Amino acid sequence: MHPIVSGRRLAGALLCLVPLASPSAKDIAVPPDISAKSLEMLQRSVGFRTVEGEGQVPAYAEYLAGELRAHGFAAEDITITPRGETATLTARYRGTDPKLKPILIASHMDVVPARREDWERDPFTAVVEDGFVFGRGASDNKFGLVTSTTALFWLKQEGFKPKRDIVVVLSGDEETSMETTAALAQELKGAELLLNSDAGGANLGDDGKPIVYAMQAAEKTYMDFEVTTTNPGGHSSRPGATNAIYDLARILDRLAAFRFPPKTNEITKAYFKAAGAITPAPTGPAMLRYADHPDDKEAYELLVSYPEYVGQVGTTCVATTLRGGHAPNALPQSATVGINCRVFPGESVEYVQSTLTKVIDDPKAQIRLIYEPVPSDASPLREDVMKALRKAVDLRAPGLPIVPSMSAGATDSLHFRNAGVPSYGVGGLFINPKDSFSHGLNERIPVASIDGAVAQWRSLVRDLAR
Ligand SMILES: [Zn+2]
Repeated sequence: MHPIVSGRRLAGALLCLVPLASPSAKDIAVPPDISAKSLEMLQRSVGFRTVEGEGQVPAYAEYLAGELRAHGFAAEDITITPRGETATLTARYRGTDPKLKPILIASHMDVVPARREDWERDPFTAVVEDGFVFGRGASDNKFGLVTSTTALFWLKQEGFKPKRDIVVVLSGDEETSMETTAALAQELKGAELLLNSDAGGANLGDDGKPIVYAMQAAEKTYMDFEVTTTNPGGHSSRPGATNAIYDLARILDRLAAFRFPPKTNEITKAYFKAAGAITPAPTGPAMLRYADHPDDKEAYELLVSYPEYVGQVGTTCVATTLRGGHAPNALPQSATVGINCRVFPGESVEYVQSTLTKVIDDPKAQIRLIYEPVPSDASPLREDVMKALRKAVDLRAPGLPIVPSMSAGATDSLHFRNAGVPSYGVGGLFINPKDSFSHGLNERIPVASIDGAVAQWRSLVRDLAR
């Protein structure tokens, strides 16, 4: 998955930029063998049909283990763990100081389904055409998996010895139940931090130049509730004083009028400051005011009017499904509304449920949480991470604005944040949103983005692990 950054609204970002440092040529020049290996591995990766239920993740993991061994990873440092029909892989790049906590580099091996008849090309045969690699998983998330891994091959090749262990962490069901992710997060919960290749990246403009880099540092928590009204019912020829559908309708009116209070955190403050500085009036100035004063009513009202910002200023809950009654000639015995919430980090299930109960204001109505959510706090914008990311991005696009982001969820980082590991979506994909078809038809990535991503990963990992 990838965070959504509106390139249109952030356009113009390049106008006032001064490069922070001139990058060193040798840090950008990916060795030809590493560059070729990256493209080859991406193409072969697409060929593994790692869709849920196809049982191909273990075979893909074996292939990756072979490449890791061929590029300097000791066999005993690579672990493939079968988990149901899928699997996880971890590979440890040994550091010199075993007392230090490891850093993790996460990607997922599975992909969402793709049907041959829907695609112009076979989704599971990578095709290079018009400067793109086409195939299911090309962007989500095999590009990130491959480029972060071949960056380690490069570091091994040049004899880099990190102080900390660097652990490649590959999950096998990120697109579905994330049970493998939850298991990995438990096993690795003592880690220093996690770098996730499955979020973060830059938007390219139509001229091919990057506009803004988004770094994901928080995710909202997904929660589903149902509210049900009940009634003894009866024959529809004899309507009474109460009616389950009418009762629910009154509840819906109250829900529709309600908004959770404005919230900010370090990530959304930084996001609104960065975005506000490059967004035209009146929205830009409103973002800047809101960042410092979430009680600024006018700024808040303007931001909630945009679908792309309403989720950044607080918890949202909205009615998404409705069912009620059982026959056209019977009084309804029950009516139910489904409510989907995207909860601001730090707000609990109890808080959301008790708030909704107050809003519903009907002691006869029942509110029910549909399943147990996995809450996760925002990760702190650590100076070491921001500095290393700044340097790594500067290699490719000096001075490109880096905007911290909070996404509506969910990536593997969710479970790691829940387990107390600060997690950052710092992928290397630079792509025009028009070309981004993650989860969709004809998924593709620009070939030109591969080397830059490898160089970015090498710089980032080297700085954080040394
Ligand atoms: Zn993904």
